[in-house]
Amino acid sequence: MTVQAAQARGTQLLASAGLDTPALDASLLLAETLGFYRERLILTYPNPIQNSAWHHFEELLRRRLAGESVAYILGRKEFWGLEFSVSPAVLVPRPDTETLVEAALSFLTSRPPISPWSLVPAPQSLRPPVLPPQCSLLDLCTGSGAVAIALKHEAADLEVWASDISPEALEIARQNAVRLLGAGHGAPDPVKLIQSDLFDQISHCFSLITANPPYVKSAEIAGLPAEVRKEPRLALDGGADGLDLIRRIITGAPAHLHTGGALLLEAEPRQMETIRAELEKHGFVGIQIYKDLSGAERVIGGYR
Ligand code: GLN
Repeated sequence: MTVQAAQARGTQLLASAGLDTPALDASLLLAETLGFYRERLILTYPNPIQNSAWHHFEELLRRRLAGESVAYILGRKEFWGLEFSVSPAVLVPRPDTETLVEAALSFLTSRPPISPWSLVPAPQSLRPPVLPPQCSLLDLCTGSGAVAIALKHEAADLEVWASDISPEALEIARQNAVRLLGAGHGAPDPVKLIQSDLFDQISHCFSLITANPPYVKSAEIAGLPAEVRKEPRLALDGGADGLDLIRRIITGAPAHLHTGGALLLEAEPRQMETIRAELEKHGFVGIQIYKDLSGAERVIGGYR
């Protein structure tokens, strides 16, 4: 069998099981089997593949058909242009969550406007006072570390802390931080990792707090696609209305933010108005909502 025939056969198998992106998935799994980049498949189309490679490919296809995501099968997922290691101990980083990174960057780089209108109440234009030069970030529910590491990658001077309740997740985050940011050899850790149930073990104050917490309603977990149900329930289940963790974060955040610091949360579009009310109740101002690439309201935040 040639590379091309193997790819066509794999695509057909995945398509007949109703998977969304059968050609992409098959090519990623075949490239993994053959040990090279997906782009190189096309150059090797006419070449035969060995029986052992075909069997290995079949095994990967079987796992995909059984509902495992390509990310878990390969053990990696690209996010923010960086390749993160993933395992079933962590949520697979989603493109949607890049919106959280973008929102955080716009916060970190925005300057307070010197506006003659500053006495006119205009919530959308409120900006924080000047922050201390040493900016710091806490990323809660960090999982694979995607958000914290992407931000540290963009802003080397940023002091980055990341926490998770799961020690297994923190181990993945640690590996990602070391591989993507470099560390060890006596250098200080680029990301300070802390095992903590939200703020429980955190006593510092930060300029910015980010989180992509679990926000799926408990009752909706069973209806999620098979590959999502293989992700840690701890990373998905946000309780009856999906907002259990988000409420705890909003309640705890003011005590861990410098004045003028911001809290940015990922959530679902239909949760935004409840979260806005919750933020206002806890004194947050200048509340903004950021849309993801599909146009859905994905991130909400405000200033302390
Ligand atoms: N967006 C995720 C999903 O696809 C949910 C992630 C979360 O709960 N943080 O279901």
